[in-house]
Amino acid sequence: MAPLPKKKRSKARLGPRRAAYRLSVVTLNPCPQCHSPRRPHRLCPVCGYYRGREVIAVESPAGQ
Ligand SMILES: [Zn+2]
Repeated sequence: MAPLPKKKRSKARLGPRRAAYRLSVVTLNPCPQCHSPRRPHRLCPVCGYYRGREVIAVESPAGQ
């Protein structure tokens, strides 16, 4: 037989685990190209640059 929990976990005891399900605050770092807030390891939505080169074309380039 597979191991099973001996007792049903009460709603109060589920609380500490469910406290980890909350949303984390989004971190924002300045873009090295245009210095606008940008999420780390993502290309900048303002200038479209990532790792020193233009990856996507932005309609209104603000970083130039
Ligand atoms: Zn940028």
